[in-house]
Order: sequence, then structure tokens, then C-alpha cells
Amino acid sequence: MAKIQMKNAIAELDGDEMTRILWGVIKEKLLLPFIDLQVEYFDLGLKARDDSDDRITYESAQAIKRLGVGVKCATITSNTARVEEYKLKGLTPSPNGIIRAELDGTVFRKPIIVKNIQPTVSCWTKPLVLGRHAYGDVYKNCEMYVDGPGKAELVFTGKDGKEIRKTIMEMKGPGVLQGIHNLDKSIESFARACFYYGLSEKINVWFATKDTISKTYDGRFKEIFQKIYDSEYKEQFEKAGIEYFYTLIDDVVARVMKNEGGFLWACKNYDGDVMSDMVASASGSLAMMTSVLVSPDGKFEYEAAHGTVQRHYYKYLKGEKTSTNPVALIFAWTGALAKRAELDKTPELADFAVKLEKATLDTIESGVMTGDLAQLASPKATEILDSWQFIDRIAARL
Ligand code: NAP
Ligand code: MG
Repeated sequence: MAKIQMKNAIAELDGDEMTRILWGVIKEKLLLPFIDLQVEYFDLGLKARDDSDDRITYESAQAIKRLGVGVKCATITSNTARVEEYKLKGLTPSPNGIIRAELDGTVFRKPIIVKNIQPTVSCWTKPLVLGRHAYGDVYKNCEMYVDGPGKAELVFTGKDGKEIRKTIMEMKGPGVLQGIHNLDKSIESFARACFYYGLSEKINVWFATKDTISKTYDGRFKEIFQKIYDSEYKEQFEKAGIEYFYTLIDDVVARVMKNEGGFLWACKNYDGDVMSDMVASASGSLAMMTSVLVSPDGKFEYEAAHGTVQRHYYKYLKGEKTSTNPVALIFAWTGALAKRAELDKTPELADFAVKLEKATLDTIESGVMTGDLAQLASPKATEILDSWQFIDRIAARL
């Protein structure tokens, strides 16, 4: 059988622990036998990042920008325990944080739906996609504890020396204070990434903040979204038969619980952090959740939403064949291949991505699955396999 050809390469970012093991198996069994795979490979394993003082992470982000498409394995974000475990030079920053900042991207998470795993929220029949702004707010805060009464002020000193000063609170006793910020440029990128995603997936876009209370801060988000929608996307949305809808965050939470899904819910940074875990967990399993980072100029990085599945890796190191679910990793690859095919206009590659996804979903729907899904499946699983057997079954179907 002649292998499927690719016109351009994908940036491949390898990772850590159990996901690194599965990454290799997926390539060997599901990709390399069928595709003449063109990649620029970057080892983002913790040791390699540490050895290169993170140069490799920055290089991989540049490659995604240059090639337009990347696929990333899960990676360890180091902490003091990892410094000891991997004999590192020191703590390295989160690779996802670095790549998000380099691409100025927004993260979109979408559940993978199969018939025999019912979401906890029973009305969600279509995937509910969550878009999270990945810059600023409480994640870049400045905060303090004050141990007695006093006046708390918000002060801005302009480049020209001009001062703006507002009283936050005449504090009557000890308490806490916090300063947060966001930038028009980042909010604009966030808005464009959301509208771009909605348009490319042909789904409605919902955005919500608390602008009734936070009239200036959240109000600015609302204004910028509306301005960009009206001037750059309205016509294209109307042509595609989709809409942009703004409401209050509490209203959206109530509506989401009674909705069938199938739209993009754009969230500010903190809302996205909290709500994406709720959506993931209510959709079934973290191992059935894809994640894509989209930059405002249309560069895409695909990954699984879960981490490196450390606990399973330690079992694997003891010689156990674990039943770790590879589906989100497989879908990271199919997402990247499909995007490559769309950009390069290579229908054969696009068709392969569709077939690999179908083979994966059909395998699960036939009752054959990994242990995590077996706990949720209805009707019950007919066979519970380890990761290697499960991937072999997908390969056989493919
Ligand atoms: P995790 O790897 O997502 O795993 C948490 C638990 O979720 C697992 O122990 C497992 O539960 C279950 N799980 C997750 N993915 C699964 C899969 N594919 N199949 C079956 N079960 C799955 O999170 P973590 O253990 O908190 O973090 C481990 C490392 O991942 C950390 O070093 C963290 O820095 C890193 N991380 C990376 C990313 C990323 O690169 N995008 C994201 C998050 C975390 P059971 O143990 O009950 O089976
Ligand atoms: Mg979270």
C-alpha cells in the first residue's frame, strides 16, 4: 500500500511519562504504517527542557508559528519533587505557559462524544466547547495582606508622569488587597481567536462576563468583543448561519445546564480554568477531552487536555501494562493532521484523519475500551483492554 504523502511538516512536541510511552505506540501502530509522516521533532521531555534551559520549548513554539500546525504530548510542569526526581538544574516554567505566551493563543477544549458514555448533564448531546483566555487577570496578580487600618488606593502613573488615583477602601482593620490587569491587545487576540474558531467549526459563540458589577474591567471585554465582531466577523457569521451572543456569566451558567451544547463558550481566564474542569468532568472523562491552542493569526497547536498520567507511569515502570486511555492523544494527532490537510489542500490526508477518528470511536462503541471508560459505559463494556491491546484493535479496524 502506498503511504499517504504530506506537503508540509507538523511541529511534533514530545513529552513525558505515560503519555510519552503512548505517543510512541500511537505513531508506530496508527500513523507510520499509513502516512509518510513529515514532522519537525522537538523533545519537550523534562530533562531535555532542563538541559537546554528551555531553549527547546521556545524553538518548538517558533516552529508552530512557522509551520502553522503543531501537535503536543503532555509534559511535566516541574516542582521541587520533580527537581529531585529528574536531577534538574532548577525549576523550569510551564511549557504550556511559554507556548501560550509565544503564540498569544486561546485554549479551546472539546469533549469527544461516544454513544455509550453518557455525559452527567444529560441534555448535552453535542460537544460543548470551552474557550479560555490564557492571559492576565488573577493569574498575573499583585496582592498583599495589611495588618491594620489604613487607606487602600489604586494608582496609575502614565509614561508622561500623569497620575490617576482612586480609593479602593478606607480599611477599618486588617484585610487583603489585590491588583489585577489585562491588556486591550490580549483581549482583542482572545476575541479574534474565539470568532475564528467559531467560524472554522461553524458553531455559535457565547461570551459572558460580570459587566453589571465590573463596569470598566469586564465592560472592556464586552466592548472589545462587540467591536471586533461588528467590524470583522458579523458578515462572515451571517453567511455561515451562526451567531455571536453576549450575556452575563450567571445567566450563561444557568443556560448551559439546559442546553444541548454544540457551541463555543468563551470564558475569561479564571472562568475558563474553573468551567473547563466542570465541563470535562460532566462530559465523562478527562481522557476524552481534546485541547487546541489557537493564535489570533490562525496557528494551531493540538494536545490532550490531561496530564502525563504519572500514577500509571510508575506502574508501567514496574512492568505493568496499564489501561491508560490514549483517545485524547490520538485526537491530538488527527486534529493536527486534519488542519495540515486543510491548509495544504491534501484530501487524502484529511480522509485519513476522519477514518482514524472513526476507527477509534467505533472501537469504543463496539464495547471495547480502557478501564477509565469501562467505569462509565452503558451498556457495560464487553472487553476492558490495556493501552497496547486497545491501540492494536483500533489499528485492525483502521
Ligand atoms: P493527569 O496526568 O491528568 O492525571 C490525573 C488522573 O486522571 C490520573 O491519575 C488518572 O486517574 C486520570 N487520567 C488522566 N488521563 C488519563 C488517561 N489518559 N487515561 C486514564 N486515566 C487518566 O494529572 P496529574 O497526575 O495531576 O499530573 C501529572 C503530570 O502532568 C504533572 O507533572 C503535571 O505537571 C502534568 N500536566 C501536564 C499537562 C499538559 O501538558 N497539558 C496538563 C496537566 C498536567 P487514576 O489515577 O484514578 O487512574
Ligand atoms: Mg483548572
